[in-house]
Amino acid sequence: MILGFAPDSPQCARAECRAPAEMSVVWRNPKIHTPDRRKVWLACAEHADYLHDFLASRAFPVRVVDDVTDGSDVDLPEGPR
Ligand SMILES: [Zn+2]
Repeated sequence: MILGFAPDSPQCARAECRAPAEMSVVWRNPKIHTPDRRKVWLACAEHADYLHDFLASRAFPVRVVDDVTDGSDVDLPEGPR
């Protein structure tokens, strides 16, 4: 998916990383977000795993997409109950 109207190139969400985003870490917090809610952290290829593990360690449903996306059409796995 191309974000054609973004004024700046999307960057990695990792602190102090200025690399252009190539991937999307799509997640939600089951405690505060409804099941259809999506949060997206954009990431470079190097930090996608770091961001995924950060969220997975909190037991949040999370999925890494190999593209820059708004997450609206991404299915998240069910979190632990
Ligand atoms: Zn990065």
